[in-house]
Amino acid sequence: MGALEFSLLLVFATFVAGSPLPKATTCGYDACPVPNPDLINVHLFPHTHDDVGWLKTVDQYYYGHKNDIQTAGVQYILDSVVNELPKNPDRRFIYVETAYLRQWWNQQTQESKEKIEALVASGQLEIISGGWSMHDEAVTHYHSIIDQFTWGFKNIDDMFNTTCARPHVGWQIDPFGHARETASIMSQMGFDGLFFARLDEADKINRYKNKELEIVWKASANLGSAASLFTVAFHDYYHAPEGYCFDVICDDDPIIDDVRSPDYNVDARVQDFIDYIERQIQYFKTNNILVPMGQDFSYQQASYWFNNIDRLIKYVNERQSTGSRVNLMYSTPSCYLKALQNADLSWKTKEDDFFPYSSDDYSYWTGYYTSRPTLKYMERKGNNFLQICKQLSVLADLREENWEDLASLREAMGIMQHHDAITGTEKQHVAEDYALRLHRSMEHCHVTTDKALNKIASKGVQENLEFKSCLYSNVSQCDISENSDKFVVTLYNPLAQASTLYVRLPVLDFVYEVRDDTDTLITETQMLRIPTPILTLPGRASIATQELVFRATDIPPLGYKSYHVTKTAAASAPAMPTNDFVINNDVIEVTFNPETHKLESVKDIQKDKTYSLSHDFQYYEGVEGDNSVASARASGAYIFRPVNHQKKPITNNPPATETYKGPLVNEIHQVWNEWVSSVVRIYNGYNDIEIEWTVGPIPIDDDIGKEIVTVYTVGGWETNGKFFTDSNGREILERNRNLRPTWDFDPSFEPVAGNYYPVTTTISLRNFAADSAGEEFAVLTDRAQGGSSIENGTLEVMLHRRLLFDDGKGVYEALNETAFDKGLVARGKQILLFGQTQTSPTSIYLQRLISRENMVLAPWVFLTPTILSSSEWISKYNTLYSGLKKEVPGNVNILTLEPWDGDKILVRVENFMEQNDDPELSQTAYLPIQGLIDRITDNLEIRETVLGANQWLEDSVRLEFKVEGEDGSQQLPRPEPDEFKTNITLNPMQIRTFIVQPPTGGANTIAPSVFSFVSIFALTLWKNLAQY
Ligand SMILES: [Zn+2]
Repeated sequence: MGALEFSLLLVFATFVAGSPLPKATTCGYDACPVPNPDLINVHLFPHTHDDVGWLKTVDQYYYGHKNDIQTAGVQYILDSVVNELPKNPDRRFIYVETAYLRQWWNQQTQESKEKIEALVASGQLEIISGGWSMHDEAVTHYHSIIDQFTWGFKNIDDMFNTTCARPHVGWQIDPFGHARETASIMSQMGFDGLFFARLDEADKINRYKNKELEIVWKASANLGSAASLFTVAFHDYYHAPEGYCFDVICDDDPIIDDVRSPDYNVDARVQDFIDYIERQIQYFKTNNILVPMGQDFSYQQASYWFNNIDRLIKYVNERQSTGSRVNLMYSTPSCYLKALQNADLSWKTKEDDFFPYSSDDYSYWTGYYTSRPTLKYMERKGNNFLQICKQLSVLADLREENWEDLASLREAMGIMQHHDAITGTEKQHVAEDYALRLHRSMEHCHVTTDKALNKIASKGVQENLEFKSCLYSNVSQCDISENSDKFVVTLYNPLAQASTLYVRLPVLDFVYEVRDDTDTLITETQMLRIPTPILTLPGRASIATQELVFRATDIPPLGYKSYHVTKTAAASAPAMPTNDFVINNDVIEVTFNPETHKLESVKDIQKDKTYSLSHDFQYYEGVEGDNSVASARASGAYIFRPVNHQKKPITNNPPATETYKGPLVNEIHQVWNEWVSSVVRIYNGYNDIEIEWTVGPIPIDDDIGKEIVTVYTVGGWETNGKFFTDSNGREILERNRNLRPTWDFDPSFEPVAGNYYPVTTTISLRNFAADSAGEEFAVLTDRAQGGSSIENGTLEVMLHRRLLFDDGKGVYEALNETAFDKGLVARGKQILLFGQTQTSPTSIYLQRLISRENMVLAPWVFLTPTILSSSEWISKYNTLYSGLKKEVPGNVNILTLEPWDGDKILVRVENFMEQNDDPELSQTAYLPIQGLIDRITDNLEIRETVLGANQWLEDSVRLEFKVEGEDGSQQLPRPEPDEFKTNITLNPMQIRTFIVQPPTGGANTIAPSVFSFVSIFALTLWKNLAQY
């Protein structure tokens, strides 16, 4: 036994976080079939691809309901596979989606569970990937990707009492393009490899020819080889080879081996298969070849597949006696990976990503970056609230009886990451089911946050106060702020640093008095008119015509601050518009052209620097088409295909403009046409610009589908065809118009759609002129959107799409969303900022900070109606609380704080800066983990795990793959033994995950506290914000 084999055994002999699990002896790489070095070894992967919602809802798929839409019932797949596997010990099957596995497991008898466990322990049934769903990679945020894997792994650990169940390869066969960050995350989870099927057709053909479908993906510019992942792109689709789908849902011929039968077909079927393999082998680098045997929702009658694959293997392998080189075997992706690793070759590498994906010259899958914008926004808010729900569960020490509500939101968010959920590529009724599930789960988690906040806020007898959210604040509607004479605003800040924000609440036409946590009257408040197009939004049920704005300062980290609001008897004078075309504060001046009414320039007052910036809304017409041939492709839910690649103006007139000025915020309201309006605003103290956009109902009475973009143009910059977008909200990637880093791209077919990239949080332009000092202009988004720089100096981001044709990629519906019997209206915001990339604080640092604080992990507004006065409230309840007890460096975020098994806590911390982001703030950070929060005290047990929290980090040993021209370890870093007693280190982009076991007893009391560093932090932050 060599050192490597020994270490591999260790992988399967160590135990999962929690209780030790029995050693397995036969699963994993030890259970793999042994390839024959003299033959072509064909690894057959029996598999099923079970979308967690697409044409049917999650439950319709699970139960096999609505089979008129699609013949698919996941429970029958799992039932029949576990019945068929024991009939032949060579048979193998992989399962991927933990959402379904858990649903099915819960319905099994003890006897059945034992049978399933035995199949897992023997390696016949292998769980791979193991996320709650197979996540999309373009429009998902890394926070939610990590969460959905962690929850999937946790459930796998809870179901199976064996390490044999731990997934160790990624399986992303259907997502529409692949993100570098996803590969990095999988590496950090300890995975040995990643398999996928969809990459740009031209890229695939190149890789075919050069035998580069199998590579080592260097997935991080910061984390070194620990983030490198061996990656296998399929030479074909993820379906079985044509003619070899042995399923009730297919029409292919079974293998008929009764020689007396007139239908006997073994010779022909075997020869065809051998011919297929002989054609394919030329594209592979070793004498191993993979062949997936399955497709969407296959194996509902597993005997159909297994009986025929048994025969295929038998008769193909019999030909070896007469000289055939083809050696078929039941296998799994892990076993294929191990066979490649055993070949001891050196592999090519890749450092960029696999976006955008095109399946032919006219089919760029770049429409889904924006499809269903309101669902995408709801998902982002779902993550924001999930983190708060998790944090409060820990901080208030809520015990296991409260965890079901939290689990509900974890699971709804896990489902939302699915590659037909957040992508917007599902049928309309399925999108509605997703929204319903997410909404209900957020309501469930409100039960948790209510309990936690009651426990923390109470100074004596606990009452049952309601801490409600304004879930309709996106249409400026809020029951409590509109209908209460007195109410308390509790602002919970999920960040590890103090936060300052402007609160906006829809209210009636009265004067409102706002007092802070110490009963001090806030003298500067402002009433702002809700824009007219918002007042008339379809479905809005509100009588509020104004919003009350006040500045909430120093909201403590992992904590809250309460404000008391009283409606006085005095009527408020409505804010009166002016016709100014300049809005300004101490740090920024924004100028509009008085004739066109359009944005013209932005002046950084402190630097005395003026940037030329114009802004417009435009639209593309979506191509009509019947998809009969490639050139007849329609623009649809997946595909973006604009007519003539040309944008059109949404109006030829200057937008109707009203300017509102006041002590806190200045804004310009613009109505562009009947279905597009915007607000451009600047808040005091900040030199970023917020643009609120409202688009819809997109008119289709001309029978033309439309895709609406917002376009920014910076004048006089040399951008050289380059722009920058984030990968899943984390590392920034350089994009080059009309160029792909590793293959020749022909942009002539789709010069616009082929240059679109996913924007999860950020898109930016840099000025490469010699005297520019690294100027940068960035657009931060509140949800995933598609974007590009189609001409030098411009950025465009797609906001909303309404289309009248299906694009032929399977959903069989046009993306024509309606609500309240009208085309769907979407409202959102973007934040624009100018900065520079060379001196600290750089614009990249500020982008990361502002995106986090305003979009991704914004303070949550809870409202509580009350009859108490401000002073009465303060005497009864804690109005200021921070769960954080130690200072956290400015480049560190507490990514996860959630209850785990028993009284254990899962803590995940990150350095959110890249190495080259900022000359000062990209440093290694040092974080005291002992005493970070009340419940993490001295002398407790802290152990570090891999990113997915399902294996101790010190036990993780990954397969090593050699890279051409390099040697180096792919292993994850090991924790330093004494680190936990002092400060743990966090290098740029490093995420570290810990399971903490608090000491037993005495952990149930919560001392209300005021975070002593709050003011210092807030000042630092404030200074940074005002400086750039
Ligand atoms: Zn799928």
